Order: sequence, then structure tokens, then C-alpha cells
Amino acid sequence: MSATPAQIAEGVAHLPVSIANVYFVGSCGSPWVLIDSSLPGNARKILEAAELLYGAGARPDAILLTHGHYDHAGSALDLANLWDVPIYAHRLELPYLTGKSPYPPIDPTAPGFMAFLGRFLPARTVNIRARVRPLPAGGEIPGMPGWQCHHTPGHAPGHVAFFRPTDATLIAGDAITTMNTDNLFDALRKRKQICGPPTPVTYDWTAALDSVRLLASLRPLTIAAGHGNPMIGPEASDELSDFAANITPPLRGRYVHQPARTGETGIVALPPKPSDPIPGIAAAVGVATIAGAMFAVAAHRRKKHSER
Ligand SMILES: [Zn+2]
Ligand SMILES: [Zn+2]
Repeated sequence: MSATPAQIAEGVAHLPVSIANVYFVGSCGSPWVLIDSSLPGNARKILEAAELLYGAGARPDAILLTHGHYDHAGSALDLANLWDVPIYAHRLELPYLTGKSPYPPIDPTAPGFMAFLGRFLPARTVNIRARVRPLPAGGEIPGMPGWQCHHTPGHAPGHVAFFRPTDATLIAGDAITTMNTDNLFDALRKRKQICGPPTPVTYDWTAALDSVRLLASLRPLTIAAGHGNPMIGPEASDELSDFAANITPPLRGRYVHQPARTGETGIVALPPKPSDPIPGIAAAVGVATIAGAMFAVAAHRRKKHSER
């Protein structure tokens, strides 16, 4: 059975897909767009949800990406091909979506469980060169009249957030989140709280903090982020303001004192790679476990042999 998107504001519906959210913007019977596309392999699920909202065979005007990370752009090309529509992203995000550059690498030495897991996950980008186009420089957003596009770098170089002033609805991408992605238990429960961008992939903390402050200054009443359930009402806006007034960079990490420098063609310079003892420790534990198991099997065989 298809998942039904939840209406969170006038003409805005939210659908959690795997580990990230997608949003549908546009009322039934009017033009609409899809914002973000979750991990690869979710095109069918998103398409079916769109048909529940807009009717069988419904097609958006476009797919818009808040940024190109794998968990936001993963199903974009499949959907764009199914619907035959363009994908839009900020021009500074294009190097990472067209095979020109990898993103700045995950920082496994940053705090939090996601950073820990990041050691064991492959760094991946998606190549959507065939469909992606830059968002218009003038600030108008294809398929989203009445919305503003705010460049909110720090988590990704061409990260953008979408804001509708008439009812203060914010689609924030990963510039802020509404759950603590650094805490395994909070993340599993999706406990609602305003948090900063996911830590290990945030490559420039000065820019990231400025982006949080910019979004707080908009005083959004609906906060719809890339991770976590949307938060709605004046309390959410107040929580974001308090959070932005007190936010500090993480205590440690590769990008805390020096950002990755990026430009029109992708990565320009990276801070030095931090020393990370954990993969070595994990490998040693793995080797010791295998050696122990082999020793136990050999001892068992010897015992059986001597009993004959
Ligand atoms: Zn991201
Ligand atoms: Zn994300």
C-alpha cells in the first residue's frame, strides 16, 4: 500500500521516504513540484504518493533539490525520466551532480554516531547530468510562485532553502534538522527538536551557522527539514530562534577550524585529513575475532581426534 503524504501547510505535503523527507508543493489541480527525492530506489514509492495527491498520471513541473547529497538526490534521475521533467539545483551544487567532483569527504572524527558510521559507508554521489539545470539566478523558482530561494551553504556548497512569506513556511533541506541526527536513540525515535545540519558532512561551520541564523531570522511557522518530522507553530519558531542564538560548532572535527574550500568546479582545497585510530582498532578486533574462532575450531578438531 502506498504511503499517503501529510499536508503540513497550504499546498505543501510531507512524505518521509527511507531516511530523508520529500515534499510536494502545489495544490491538487494546480501545477506542482517535488522537492528532494531521498535515497536511490524510491522512485516508485514517491510516484505513487504523488498520484494519491494529484491524481493518476500526474506529473510535476520540475524536481527541485535542496542539495545533492545521496539521500536527497538519489531517486531524482529515475523520477525525472519517468515524468520527463527537469531537475533544478543551485549552480554551486552542479559539480557534485554531474560527476565533476566528489563532495568534501565525511569527517569520521566529528562527534556523534553518524560520524562513527561514516567510516564504514562509501562516499557516493549521484550523476544526474542528463537532467539537472541550475536554478535561475534571479531568485525565481520554477514551479513555485510566491516562494523565495535562500542560499544556505555550509552543509553543502549549493544548499538552498525555500521560504513562503505569506504563511512563513520553510522547507529547510539539511541547513537545519528537526531531529538530532547525531544521537542514535533520538534519531530512531525521531524526537522533534531543532538541530543543526548533520555533523559529519558539514564542510564549513562558519557558513553553516550563518545559514542557521538566516533561517531563524525568517521566523518560520512551519519548519519542514530534510530529516525529522515537520515542526509547526510559534513554539517551533521560538525554538529555532533560541537555537540560532546559542549555536556553536561541534567540539571537534576536520572542518571545525578550517573549512573545505569549494568553487564552481567543486572541491578547491581540504583541511588536512585527521588521524583516525578507529578503523585500525576495528580491523584488529576483526582479525582477533577470526583468529580466535579459527583457534577454537582447530582445538575442537584436535580434541575429537584424540578421543578416537
Ligand atoms: Zn545533506
Ligand atoms: Zn540529508
